[in-house]
Amino acid sequence: MTLVARAFRGSGRMVTFYTQERGLVEAAASGIGKPGSSLSSAVEPFTLSKLFFAEGRGADRLTQCRVIEPFYELRHDMHKYAHASAACELIMRTTETDQITPGLFEMLVSYLREMAATDSPQLLSWAFQLAYLNLSGLGPVMHQCVECGCELKSGLYSAERGGLLCDRCCVGMEGGLPLSPGAVQSIAAISRFHVTQLGRLKITDNIKREVDALLRSHIRYHLDLALKSETFLRKLMASEQKGATDHDG
Ligand SMILES: [Zn+2]
Repeated sequence: MTLVARAFRGSGRMVTFYTQERGLVEAAASGIGKPGSSLSSAVEPFTLSKLFFAEGRGADRLTQCRVIEPFYELRHDMHKYAHASAACELIMRTTETDQITPGLFEMLVSYLREMAATDSPQLLSWAFQLAYLNLSGLGPVMHQCVECGCELKSGLYSAERGGLLCDRCCVGMEGGLPLSPGAVQSIAAISRFHVTQLGRLKITDNIKREVDALLRSHIRYHLDLALKSETFLRKLMASEQKGATDHDG
């Protein structure tokens, strides 16, 4: 699966793939864009291919490929493109080369397949982020207090502690993100729902803001990163909203 490609020596590209057998692989591909180049299609982002590499002195070389699923839909819809990029970026920035995380390849492929078809790209994107965090053992603790273990339906989320705190345990704590019962329920539903059912979840805009704030804060703290593709998406949505308001006014 192609995650990203960048220019490299003339018509070459340095491409980052996530593979089933080796996890993250960086490989050089040459002659891209030249007539007859069979590798050109495989370096497009989000392309699922059978890939053949040759070991080089530095990075591996991509020698042959056979495209299995090109996921065109993701490249022709800016929102879906940004969500798909965010997932690829998350993997690239938190995984070492040749590190295999069992289940991650299948999870990424099914995510991109669903993203191509879905009407709820944002919910699907959150579902992927939660699943990725859970797979890495870093998912936020939501239904009980991370300190005393009492059951919770809402509470104060602390990125540092990795989940919700009850009224007693958060006394004197600075910062934190209050999460409503609706937000806690929605996060559970997003994690639990099969991706094909996400479109049926009804979540209000207020709760969406809470879920978004929680995930951004959790990813920033536990994976030590802010996703560039998420920033792009936020700007895209802000400019669309402004466009709609200008139009309405
Ligand atoms: Zn507690």
